[in-house]
Amino acid sequence: MAQAVSKSSISKNSRTSSATQKFFCSCGGEVKVKTLFEKGKAKNIAECQKCKRVERRPSDFK
Ligand SMILES: [Zn+2]
Repeated sequence: MAQAVSKSSISKNSRTSSATQKFFCSCGGEVKVKTLFEKGKAKNIAECQKCKRVERRPSDFK
């Protein structure tokens, strides 16, 4: 019975980590967050898939 308990806790965890928020540009395109590597540093940018507008954060598209 202990097996069933651990299984459910694993699926709960994976659901939490895969819950990604969606953002949309003012043009209606979907905004995707990308990770760029610049001078050895990881940098996140948000890009609209439709008009290719780039902002630092997905929330900047509002
Ligand atoms: Zn756009």
